[in-house]
Amino acid sequence: MLEVNDLHKVYNNASKTIHVLQGLDLNIEKGKFVAIVGPSGSGKTTFLSMLGLIDYVDSGKIYFNGDRIDNLSETERDTFRMKNLGFIFQSFNLIPELSAQGNVMLPLLLGGVSWGTARRKARELLPLLGLATKFRSYPSELSGGQQQRVAIARALAKDVFVILADEPTGNLDSQNAAQLADLLTQLAKDKKVSV
Ligand code: ADP
Ligand code: MG
Repeated sequence: MLEVNDLHKVYNNASKTIHVLQGLDLNIEKGKFVAIVGPSGSGKTTFLSMLGLIDYVDSGKIYFNGDRIDNLSETERDTFRMKNLGFIFQSFNLIPELSAQGNVMLPLLLGGVSWGTARRKARELLPLLGLATKFRSYPSELSGGQQQRVAIARALAKDVFVILADEPTGNLDSQNAAQLADLLTQLAKDKKVSV
């Protein structure tokens, strides 16, 4: 499903050059739950932003179902991300003018899902993340952890093939962290999403 060949990424900072990814190869099958482990600064976020087509590779190739995706144009990247990927990143970028429910619904509506279906989906997912009483709350009325859980519900709402999660449980208490881990492993198992 996702295949990475000989990926390289170099960052040039003011004082030095860091060769973050040095010939990385990886093959992720459909419905597989894969964890990338390494110390802080080892390049996990860098790698996920390459896989998510957020940043550009220096060299190497990325394939999705056999098609190359690392060389897509900016517009094609946007479409690809919208159709295929769900992101759970640490910066959650909720839309302040929309309620929790509205934030979860928006990507569905943009993807052509009907209003009723989007609303039902949001109301199914938010309670699974401990937000059953927060449908109508705006981001400014929610704690940081609650906002992050809204962003997670938003990422899980779309029917996607791959979910990229960058330390998704980092800011959650142990109960919410365990619940999220269950939810993600279940998505991989039941819906054959690669996480
Ligand atoms: P991790 O997520 O594993 O903690 P990162 O991928 O964030 O690691 O970072 C890997 C290395 O690349 C670090 O040394 C970091 O300072 C550097 N780095 C990450 N992003 C940038 C950037 N945009 N510009 C310059 N250096 C960066
Ligand atoms: Mg990181």
